[in-house]
Amino acid sequence: MIELVSEARCTECGLCIRVCPTNVFDDHAGLPVIARQDDCQTCYICEAYCPVDALYVAPYGDEPVAVDEDALAAAGTLGSWRATIGWGRKRPTMAALDTTPFIDRILPSQPELPAREIDFILGRAPGP
Ligand code: SF4
Ligand code: SF4
Repeated sequence: MIELVSEARCTECGLCIRVCPTNVFDDHAGLPVIARQDDCQTCYICEAYCPVDALYVAPYGDEPVAVDEDALAAAGTLGSWRATIGWGRKRPTMAALDTTPFIDRILPSQPELPAREIDFILGRAPGP
């Protein structure tokens, strides 16, 4: 659930207000104000978009939790989701770091379909 807008960091770009799918923020002359916290879906989209790491979305979706901005900043938590997914200049993307084996390497090998069945599936030949 969204818990924090850092007024010290926010540059009032308005991105988070525009991308939030449930319209959680009110726009106070560019500054996002958490107005409908209960509507937050904990989707992290706002945090991902914020270019200056001014937002904090807590991983708890059911109820608000108290947060301390200085403690979050000191721990490097502000903006950490954006960094994790590789958004921001010159950051490696999650896809680039992904080492998950391709699905065909972890599934048992399958027998190849005969050419006539492939043609049928692709609509290139009538059924058997
Ligand atoms: S986490 Fe998602 S739903 Fe919640 S305020 Fe941010 S963008 Fe909106
Ligand atoms: S995206 Fe970040 S900088 Fe832009 S308005 Fe929202 S909190 Fe402020």
